[in-house]
Amino acid sequence: MKLVQLWNGCFPSLGIQTPQGVIDVEKESARRGLPSPTDMAAAIALGQAGLDQLAALMEGAECFTNAPLAPVVTQTGKILCIGLNYRQHAKECNLPLPEKPVLFNKFSNALAAHGDYVTLLPDYLEYDYEAELVAVIGKPARDVKEEDALSYVYGYTCGNDLSTRDLQFARGNQWVLSKTLDGFAPIGPCLVPAGELDPQNLAISSTVNGEVRQNSNTGDMIFTVAQIIADLSHHFTLQPGDLIFTGTPQGVMHGYPADQKNWLRPGDRVDVTIQHIGTLTTTFR
Ligand code: MN
Repeated sequence: MKLVQLWNGCFPSLGIQTPQGVIDVEKESARRGLPSPTDMAAAIALGQAGLDQLAALMEGAECFTNAPLAPVVTQTGKILCIGLNYRQHAKECNLPLPEKPVLFNKFSNALAAHGDYVTLLPDYLEYDYEAELVAVIGKPARDVKEEDALSYVYGYTCGNDLSTRDLQFARGNQWVLSKTLDGFAPIGPCLVPAGELDPQNLAISSTVNGEVRQNSNTGDMIFTVAQIIADLSHHFTLQPGDLIFTGTPQGVMHGYPADQKNWLRPGDRVDVTIQHIGTLTTTFR
């Protein structure tokens, strides 16, 4: 099942992406008098019961919508990001493999939807993309064991961990500032429930203006999604709706030789594709 959020006026509402179009969950549930969650936060709160309600709505659905897409998650307390989490990416950065997950964060101003335009400030020049698998937490997780950790994930989506490298390595290293400009955490195009995916065996790629830049598999992660959740939840409680960007594979512009750097510019388009989820498109202005 591919869940999306739509803008219904100022409010996000839930949709289901199908080959026939996007089902308007609120209208379809009203038409048939069936219960359903109204937005992603409500769906996450209902867990499997909500997914069962949505699966029932898909049968014989008639209410489709072309409303603009919202970020797949809008109510989030934490946007957590793991740095240097693919072996081949650590290699291209000439850095040793970390012994424990390396954490930084973004804020909710950075969320953007599939298809959104993101503004590149003229103050900086070295804008970079990072294709990432994003895990969405489904229930409070405090000091969970690695073997139980994936049961705390509600679903997965694609993310693009955008950075401005000339700010990231300035002023004594500014990971947060350089990565949380408005719109610098696009997510989407949909959320796939956790039970439908193996997060450690997914093809992951990115293209810039159609040219392949990253092409890997989540199996190259140094720390698995389960290990990341176990480690983070040992230090603080993860809450429903929290997002974890799980790191990027090799092929980011930062890793290219100095004479081949081609940073993102206004007018460029980046597509992040993850197997079984879909393609997240971001265009820059
Ligand atoms: Mn990243």
